[in-house]
Amino acid sequence: MKSTTRTVSSNKQVALVAHDHCKSELLRWVKEHKDALAHHKLFATGTTGNILSRETGLAITSLMSGPMGGDQQLGAMICEKKIDVLVFFWDPLCAVPHDPDVKALLRIATVWNIPVAINRASANYLITSPMMMNEIDIEVPDYDKYLSERL
Ligand code: PGA
Repeated sequence: MKSTTRTVSSNKQVALVAHDHCKSELLRWVKEHKDALAHHKLFATGTTGNILSRETGLAITSLMSGPMGGDQQLGAMICEKKIDVLVFFWDPLCAVPHDPDVKALLRIATVWNIPVAINRASANYLITSPMMMNEIDIEVPDYDKYLSERL
């Protein structure tokens, strides 16, 4: 597929998600990087977002809870270029009822070439990257071209 360039602002739109057994780990990570995260616009699935904002005081827009559609909401926002970065501590050891939504979210993040951190180590790399604090250009699918070739 042809690609085009999308400019991502220095003020990123960051989505935070953690499965139940990973929520305490994400909370610990968010507390450690609170100052850096405060520069950005934060979104989260319902339970994750409520816990994180209550425990850290950060302003976080909470969507629906993951099993109730929150992952799909985030996926739609990625398509609409309303999410620039995904921090998703998904649980590799426990099955979740909304596994298809989890896969869909990871898939659509890949399609739209947004950076995804799936554990503490990758989240540390991401949050300390100069790209987080600077305006950057990323390659994304050229949707207009994609559509015109199919019509
Ligand atoms: P939750 O959803 O933040 O509402 O727990 C997370 C998820 O399971 O995707």
